[in-house]
Amino acid sequence: MAPIQLDKIPVQKMKGISARRAEALATLGIQSIQDLLEYTPRRHLDRSMFLPINKLEENSEATVMGDIIKKKKVVRGKRRLIVSIHDGKGILDGVWFNQVEIFDKIFEERQTVAFSGKVTRFKTWQMVHPDFDIIGDNRDKLHTGQNIPIYPGSEALRKAGLNSYSFRRIISDALKEYQRNITEILPSVLIKKYKLLPRALAFRQMHFPESSEKLKQVFRRFKYEELFFLELLMALRKHFYQTPAKAVQVNIDNALIRKVVDSFPFQLTRAQRDVLKEIYNDLRSGHPMNRLLQGDVGSGKTVVALVTMLMAISSGYQAALMAPTEILAQQHYFNVTDLVKVPLNIEFLIGSLNPNEKEQIHRKIAEGEIDLVIGTHALIQESVQFKKLGLVIVDEQHRFGVMQRAELIKKGLHPHVLVMTATPIPRSLALTLYGDLDVSIIDELPPGRQQLRTFWRKEGKLNLIHEFIRQKVRDRQQVYIIYPLIEESEKMDLKAATDAYHYLKKDVFPEFKLALLHGRLRMEEKAKIMEDFKRRRVHILISTTVIEVGVDIPNATIMVIEHADRFGLSQLHQLRGRVGRGEKESFCILVTPEDINEIAQKRMKVLEQSNDGFFIADEDLRLRGSGEFFGTRQHGMPDLKFADLIADKNIVQTARKDAFALVEKDPHLRFTQHQTAKEYFKQKFVEKFQMKHIA
Ligand code: ADP
Ligand code: MG
Repeated sequence: MAPIQLDKIPVQKMKGISARRAEALATLGIQSIQDLLEYTPRRHLDRSMFLPINKLEENSEATVMGDIIKKKKVVRGKRRLIVSIHDGKGILDGVWFNQVEIFDKIFEERQTVAFSGKVTRFKTWQMVHPDFDIIGDNRDKLHTGQNIPIYPGSEALRKAGLNSYSFRRIISDALKEYQRNITEILPSVLIKKYKLLPRALAFRQMHFPESSEKLKQVFRRFKYEELFFLELLMALRKHFYQTPAKAVQVNIDNALIRKVVDSFPFQLTRAQRDVLKEIYNDLRSGHPMNRLLQGDVGSGKTVVALVTMLMAISSGYQAALMAPTEILAQQHYFNVTDLVKVPLNIEFLIGSLNPNEKEQIHRKIAEGEIDLVIGTHALIQESVQFKKLGLVIVDEQHRFGVMQRAELIKKGLHPHVLVMTATPIPRSLALTLYGDLDVSIIDELPPGRQQLRTFWRKEGKLNLIHEFIRQKVRDRQQVYIIYPLIEESEKMDLKAATDAYHYLKKDVFPEFKLALLHGRLRMEEKAKIMEDFKRRRVHILISTTVIEVGVDIPNATIMVIEHADRFGLSQLHQLRGRVGRGEKESFCILVTPEDINEIAQKRMKVLEQSNDGFFIADEDLRLRGSGEFFGTRQHGMPDLKFADLIADKNIVQTARKDAFALVEKDPHLRFTQHQTAKEYFKQKFVEKFQMKHIA
């Protein structure tokens, strides 16, 4: 008998769910029976915590449960609603002085309810404005004889014409009917090894736990399950990436590399050399390299990329370098042409070139006339075909989705891959987030860097800040002033930046040259402005966050960030990384309105306190919580519903070990005992993560 697939059965199959209700449930993400069973209670009310009313003590905090025997609106004196409940031992009044009409609609006679709050005595026992949960109808034992699930999304449920107890009834019916169709997806050895609850039982106990002990076991099971599949994804990705042993054979021309490195105007740092050694070994290993290079802003990742490209090119392959913005791509292009004193065929490919130019470049890439192409997303267009792509480098990779990286990689035959990022991932997350990559870290800055000092100032201090800027510009230094650009209101922000530009130019700094840079400008315009700034023909650059990543102009020593409270920690850290790159002392001034919320204040203080990207990443994680930090959009990772990568790091480690061991033994998931895991994996990941080899 083919197993029943619960994700294929629509919720309408349940008695009591009409099309209209189904529509409302869909807003909670509940479409199939599986979704329904997976709908996790927000919390449970444990019967053991209820106190009989005759055992209450005055002025204590308590929770009681009983049936509503009377409801009364008192209009004389202070208007109030009194809801009296009886639990077989005594009577207690819940009293509401505010929003009487609203509460009057919520409670009905004969409902079973739970009240929590401070107990007072006024003729009868009372609780004023207690927290409450409506448990149900007292004829229905489902709602009282056990730990009672309380579900999130009561608003949407109400729209569906469901209250918490009719929804509870539907869940209970669904379990009755389908519990036996819930298949185990974890291999049984693991279930045994960790004494995990079987899956079907875990679902029942998740909704209606026998005890709080059982409930703990439920969460332990689902956390493990979730992390196991996440790590399985990592293990499979890593395995299939490295297995095609026919990685491009790279015969590096050591003499050439040495010659180029010796011609640099500086010595590589120890960290840069160590990383290059790791890369060198990867390229010669016969397996495709799949490496993440992490290094704080300004640590010199570009040079490492450059040498890596030369290694590939010197053995006859093409290399591609993809950057997230045109400005950054162009800067890389200039850097390479500047630094490399040996002949190379380089091209620059971005979306805004005209079709003729593009076609020319495409042809040259296809025919292998070009060794190195540097560009933006334009590189992953269908029409770009390489003759012999041996190395792919993705800069500021957190700006690209997993899929975009994959698109570029597909253009070669198992090319070596190096992805770079300056958004440091907290060490505690790196393994999970980049579990399929090897990680190198550049942990020192080039010597001679001046300290970057950061100050948080309120808007009222702008005059002083302008005076400070004036002095520094007179001293031949340059300045960035950044305005936020928030996608939803790009137009408005652009207007803010434009207005500020006109105002500063005319009224504040008439004696200096100012320029305005933003994402809507054409490539040539942007390039011209950056060039002018670099050549010091512009003193103060007003910009939106288009300069966030990568831009490298050492003579710029001051950055003012307006509305700094609107940015996240990592982004602020990235932004200020544009200064402090030369030999003069640099300053970052974070400007905010007078009143900003507490979390924003904390962010400002963290930045004042530290320049260490890893410390900042940890703080970011702490302030935002791992759920939001993990935020699938930025990291392209599956959502986690049960597990927390930080709090549950022991389970992460165990699950990782188990998943990698499984893939080692059975990389195609062909063993009988892995079939249900494979089915589940396919359902969840194959399409989204293009894991086609698991078929
Ligand atoms: P990031 O890691 O943020 O991408 P870059 O690669 O842009 O940093 O490097 C920042 C600056 O440091 C550049 O001007 C680069 O030329 C310079 N640089 C890189 N390596 C060294 C080094 N070993 N010694 C001195 N300067 C270096
Ligand atoms: Mg960079």
